[in-house]
Amino acid sequence: MAKRTFATAINCMDGRVQEPVLRWMKQQLEVDHVDMITEPGPDKMMTAGPLETLESIKRRVTISVNAHGSRVVAIFAHADCAGFPASKEEHLIALCKCVDVVKSWMFPVRVLGLWIDADWQVEQVFDSKA
Ligand SMILES: [Zn+2]
Repeated sequence: MAKRTFATAINCMDGRVQEPVLRWMKQQLEVDHVDMITEPGPDKMMTAGPLETLESIKRRVTISVNAHGSRVVAIFAHADCAGFPASKEEHLIALCKCVDVVKSWMFPVRVLGLWIDADWQVEQVFDSKA
């Protein structure tokens, strides 16, 4: 059997974004499976949340990268986020910081930052390879 490929999503717990995230990851990154790491307002949690939450996210990314061989970590922020009620501009500033945080972990991965708008369309805004 061919080896199954994985990518990693750091995503909001919001039920409305799960399918758009999964669809985008599978289509754009051409992977078989997506490891989902969810928090309410992950872009806020990673930049202004408790350190334990950041460490917990890092532990989960480590499993995805080391055990599943993920080579892409994508961080998603979205409109109408109950965990981080803020403007798109504020979300993008936080998202940019999140990309830097994940890059600082020094995993052998490409790091993406994505915005999901009020119509659940996914827009790629940061790419560590770009
Ligand atoms: Zn949210």
